[in-house]
Amino acid sequence: MTKTAAEIIWVLGLIAWYVIRFPYEQKAKRTAVRKSLRDLRERAILLIGFAGLLFVPAVYVATGFPPAAERPFSALIAALGTAVLALALWVFLRSHAELGRNWSISLEMRSNHRLVQTGVYRFVRHPMYSSFFLLGLAQFLLLPNWVGGGAGLAGAAILYAFRIGREEKMMLENFGDEYRGYMRQTKRLVPWII
Ligand code: SAH
Repeated sequence: MTKTAAEIIWVLGLIAWYVIRFPYEQKAKRTAVRKSLRDLRERAILLIGFAGLLFVPAVYVATGFPPAAERPFSALIAALGTAVLALALWVFLRSHAELGRNWSISLEMRSNHRLVQTGVYRFVRHPMYSSFFLLGLAQFLLLPNWVGGGAGLAGAAILYAFRIGREEKMMLENFGDEYRGYMRQTKRLVPWII
């Protein structure tokens, strides 16, 4: 695999990412929101996640910026990145399919919001965030630049760190003992580990 091939794979992954999300975005527009915590802080962390996983690597792929942060390209590492990307897309797809009309880009409770505990949600409480970390890891392995490749993991970590506490608090307030039981049975990101 060449460096250009790895960059093309990253771009294709991004397109697949949006193809998976698009129908849920449309559905979300038609589903009423009962309660929203989408404030300035939420918008800021979404923007940081977007910058790290999309904007910074896109600038790198398009222009090679910043050249000083370049690291050697390895075909083996890029092949590993392709496998991680495939896993990220699969987890992303399955978490959307399972959340269905309960999905929101931000912290929101829909009308008739149901607590989903099936499919990938049987194994972890936040598979969509797991898929963000996997996407960031794939970006790091595919793009041989400390900034262009590394920004995704940084963005995913910031989004996760600033959101997870509030999200679980919101879920506890809305689902009480049902969510408490679910927390006892599952880890947050990696099945049986963390
Ligand atoms: N944190 C989850 C979902 C991300 S989407 C994940 O990583 O897979 C964010 C929205 O999903 C939040 O507005 C919240 O209301 C909703 N949500 C999170 N976990 C849920 C669950 N188990 N069942 C139903 N909705 C959930």
